[in-house]
Amino acid sequence: MHLSELIRNHDFLMSIEVFPPKTEAGDQALFDTLDCLMKYRPAFVSCTYGAGGSTRDRTMGLCKQITSKYSVPTTSHLTCVGSTRDELRHTLNLAKESGVTNIMALRGDPPQGSSSFVAVAGGLSYAIDLVKMITEEFPELGVGVAAYPEAHPEAVSSELDLKYFIEKMQAGADAAFTQLFFENDYYFNFVKKCQVAGVTQPIVPGIMPITEYARIKRIAGLCKSYIPVELCSKLESAKDDLTAQFEIGVDFAIQQCRELIDKGVPGIHFYALNKSQACERILDELELSSVHST
Ligand code: FAD
Repeated sequence: MHLSELIRNHDFLMSIEVFPPKTEAGDQALFDTLDCLMKYRPAFVSCTYGAGGSTRDRTMGLCKQITSKYSVPTTSHLTCVGSTRDELRHTLNLAKESGVTNIMALRGDPPQGSSSFVAVAGGLSYAIDLVKMITEEFPELGVGVAAYPEAHPEAVSSELDLKYFIEKMQAGADAAFTQLFFENDYYFNFVKKCQVAGVTQPIVPGIMPITEYARIKRIAGLCKSYIPVELCSKLESAKDDLTAQFEIGVDFAIQQCRELIDKGVPGIHFYALNKSQACERILDELELSSVHST
């Protein structure tokens, strides 16, 4: 189902993000995870696209498998990295043929060791260019884009980053899904500024439950996401106890999601990282699932 239709049909849009595993055991773990999470009726499952465009066929193939196994709409992530316009068109055609109904349209990260993104000859420079290609040439595909409440790590300034984000939404994205964050004020301030500028599409908060301190420190560092001092010191004091870190992370995510929901967010996009346990705890505690419009 097209993202715009999913938005119309739901009062609350809960979605799950997974990534393409590299091994058979990983495939098994992914499907075990989805087996557990499907009971919460996600509005869609999204599947990431490997850095450097490394998982193009895997991403599409997985989306196809997930749709046919669970009858759930899928969103395939797609980046501009390493692809010409024609190659992107080919991938978008493949998406249509595979029954994928939505694309998360992204620029992608610069290659490791490089601080700036350079498009390939005949390729696209920014996510907005991909949004335009999809809305103009593939209107049957819904379009999600990335949003950064704490600004994109490469941004020259948060004002300029906001301006570019607004232009990306005006180019025809159906919804935006945020980078992970741990301080809700960043999200609410960002959404307010977008709304004042005329953005009407949903900006769905992205939540990555903390399950391991070392891992989240690394990820948050890359994304330049602030981890509140109190949370940091709790995790620090449990640095030799993985079970305690998991409990602290899940409790924090429950409180964070509760506040987001109380303040009326349009949905929550969970970065499940192919594991179900933390998401299950949060979804159970909050009695959360996607809610169809009445
Ligand atoms: P853009 O919106 O193009 O922005 C990139 C940078 O360019 C920003 O700093 C922006 O301020 C600047 N900019 C934008 N437009 C202009 C302009 N016209 N002129 C000058 N500067 C401009 N990465 C993957 O590799 N695979 C994935 O599957 C994936 N999934 C993601 C899902 C979500 C929900 C999120 C939030 C991120 C995801 N990413 C993924 C990461 C993403 O690819 C990176 O953050 C990437 O660096 C930026 O992509 P973007 O689509 O936000 O780019």
